[in-house]
Amino acid sequence: MTETAPRDPARGPLVVRTAKELRAALADAGRVGLVPTMGALHGGHRSLMRLAREQADTVVVSVFVNPLQFGPDEDFDRYPRDLPGDTALCGEEGVDVVFAPETATVYPLPQMVTVDAGAMGERLEGASRPGHFTGVLTVVTKLFNLVRPDFAVFGAKDAQQIALVRRLVADLDLPVEIVGAPTLRDPDGLASSSRNAYLSDEERVSALALSRALRAGADAASGGAEAVREAARAVLEEAAKADPPLEPDYLALVDPATFADVAAGHRGETVLAVAARVGATRLIDNVSVNL
Ligand code: AMP
Repeated sequence: MTETAPRDPARGPLVVRTAKELRAALADAGRVGLVPTMGALHGGHRSLMRLAREQADTVVVSVFVNPLQFGPDEDFDRYPRDLPGDTALCGEEGVDVVFAPETATVYPLPQMVTVDAGAMGERLEGASRPGHFTGVLTVVTKLFNLVRPDFAVFGAKDAQQIALVRRLVADLDLPVEIVGAPTLRDPDGLASSSRNAYLSDEERVSALALSRALRAGADAASGGAEAVREAARAVLEEAAKADPPLEPDYLALVDPATFADVAAGHRGETVLAVAARVGATRLIDNVSVNL
């Protein structure tokens, strides 16, 4: 912190918009924990901030809707944005600094050099959203270089993302520790997500089939990989007949290190991952399944 006296938490977090302001705010910050987000903060983000707070002298939350990770037909323009609400929530969680850069601050030039996510980045989410993980890994690298955190917290809700971020750090020798946080769910089982705000009451009921399918799959673990896939698929097939229908994008049981499908006789840790649309909203969820 640049002030000579410690910052009074009652004043809420310091909101900084530029790299220069960020550097000044972090001049004497001790151990820095970063929570990268796209804002529209909810309980899932809170749980990441709490993990960061336990381990950091200074907690930084970045709020940036990253255009590079959205496809041309995706929801970049209508993605919910609420910096005052986000700042208030960060204050409740004892966050020290909110870094909320403008797009032009992060991307002063059209981005030419990007981070290739490799084969893992082309599976599941990467297959459905071409270029998505290149956008994610590029902005995460930029945020690491801007904030220079000692550690950064990512949620298991985006399982493929955190697996790729771990590989980014390992493969490119980035000097940051990655901390994983479990998926937070709403009381009805739906994984908390900024995109849940798009759902009507009826759509939300249909969306509950995502977590139901994952639970059904996990419950079938003793029967092996095919039983897990079958149990989850049965729930999704039923939900496809609901009104409004759940339109599945993918359902996959994969190796957590590669996100490649596991073979029928596979033993050990796997991830059961699902993506589906309800109306105009695309949702993802996953659980760990030990076979
Ligand atoms: P987002 O703002 O959606 O980009 O998410 C920012 C971070 O919060 C990512 O590391 C997400 O994985 C994490 N996150 C989002 N939703 C949840 C959730 N329900 N439980 C745990 N972490 C979450």
